[in-house]
Amino acid sequence: MKTPQSIQGFGSIIELVRYFDTEEKCAEYLAKKRWNGNPVCPKCGSEKVYTLKGKTKRYKCGGCREQFSVRVGTIFEASPIKLQTWFLAVYLVTAHKKGISSLQLSRDLCVTQKTAWFMLHRIRYAMGLEPGEPLDGTVEIDETYVGGKETNKPLSKRREGMMGGKGKAAVLGMLDRDGDVVAKHVPDTEKKTVLPIIHALVTKGTTICTDEFPAYKSLRRVYDHQTVKHGAEEYVRGAIHTNSIEGFWSLLKRGIIGIYHFTSEKHLQRYVDEFVFRYNSRTMNDANRFGDMLENVAGRLTYKTLTHGKAA
Ligand SMILES: [Zn+2]
Repeated sequence: MKTPQSIQGFGSIIELVRYFDTEEKCAEYLAKKRWNGNPVCPKCGSEKVYTLKGKTKRYKCGGCREQFSVRVGTIFEASPIKLQTWFLAVYLVTAHKKGISSLQLSRDLCVTQKTAWFMLHRIRYAMGLEPGEPLDGTVEIDETYVGGKETNKPLSKRREGMMGGKGKAAVLGMLDRDGDVVAKHVPDTEKKTVLPIIHALVTKGTTICTDEFPAYKSLRRVYDHQTVKHGAEEYVRGAIHTNSIEGFWSLLKRGIIGIYHFTSEKHLQRYVDEFVFRYNSRTMNDANRFGDMLENVAGRLTYKTLTHGKAA
């Protein structure tokens, strides 16, 4: 994750609230983050856009003649919640190192828990839109399983969405020791599932460290593949280890289980995205992390998609 240009210092939540004292200021800031002075039509992509006069800024596209506000085509579209409240939510979610529950967020923002839950999911969705960098340093690859134990579930719920025969959902993780982590919810950890993902994201010739899990075996054809033999109680051999990705897994699991009491795998990727975002922005301060998030809000997640859509 690139460190964005430093923005007006919101070193604390009180500074943020004081600065964004009107909706207009929020809209202006969002427009700057999103378009950097050159508005683009969210409908047809035309850059021939006029600014209309009026208290609340609206735009008109010279191409398709559509009128729009800065919210259109972002996670804030068609939401009755004020941008001031949204900004506060983004700040709270990105500043909390371990995540924030919808119950806590609803209390902080004076909205219903249902609204807070929806806002959280939209914010996570935007976190997942963060463009990743290619992984080309020394990359640790590992898989993990998240979710409740079969025996803790009522009979009727068992095997629902079951993964790998364990009732758990699988996540594949790739961590560049000099850069970002990427993590994907996968239907299983078969070779045919994990290899294409690795090949798409990790640059050829890169040094990869894994354990001796069979699915990774053929990586040596295109990568400098090093393995530690966990089965033989070997965990570190010089620089060959998977300790960093395992550290990320424990952050993820503590967050998902501790804060979110994770139960459904339908939304797993979005929870994963939140922790990936947090990890990849770990060297940024809260102000920069906030600004970075608002650059990535273009993408809309509707309530319908969220509640009825396929797992995303
Ligand atoms: Zn247009």
